[in-house]
Amino acid sequence: MALCLKQVFAKDKTFRPRKRFEPGTQRFELYKKAQASLKSGLDLRSVVRLPPGENIDDWIAVHVVDFFNRINLIYGTMAERCNETSCPVMAGGPRYEYRWQDERQYRRPAKLSAPRYMALLMDWIESLINDEDVFPTRVGVPFPKNFQQVCTKILTRLFRVFVHVYIHHFDSILSMGAEAHVNTCYKHFYYFIREFSLVDQRELEPLREMTERICH
Ligand SMILES: [Zn+2]
Repeated sequence: MALCLKQVFAKDKTFRPRKRFEPGTQRFELYKKAQASLKSGLDLRSVVRLPPGENIDDWIAVHVVDFFNRINLIYGTMAERCNETSCPVMAGGPRYEYRWQDERQYRRPAKLSAPRYMALLMDWIESLINDEDVFPTRVGVPFPKNFQQVCTKILTRLFRVFVHVYIHHFDSILSMGAEAHVNTCYKHFYYFIREFSLVDQRELEPLREMTERICH
């Protein structure tokens, strides 16, 4: 897996971690705290809980950025195999098809190829998490009132990356020996969104059976 990530970095800087927490900031300390409990061997269901005394929006912000970086890297490792020919439609098996909509080019939901959808999705999240009005990093600047709504939308769309990758590119995950790594990221993500009810249950349906198997 390490080798694959390195190859991706070398080949295409699109899939670099796109945001880092600045050392010395409060958010960085919280990120370190979350990382430390993640590595401590505690079960993933408990590491997602809000630590006593911490602000929920800060906690969500740290996780959204971290999940974005990790899921972006996971998709990056298989991006070569997810192309216009293999995946002309952004789907999750025959039953689920996702359309892209944004405030710019695609004001009406558009049927796009998976790689195009993913590129728009990653750029869209990157611009949001780097927007000081949405993800403020300065001390004392409050989160916007719709912060959790925005995060719900980001996490809902990130979940679709898992759907596509698991259903259409599971063979790539296996051939890279990345199954355990991807499963751990998925479980962490899943417990997090359930803990704070951040993604609608209907969105989780495409991976329901797998989730029941691995998240018990
Ligand atoms: Zn694909």
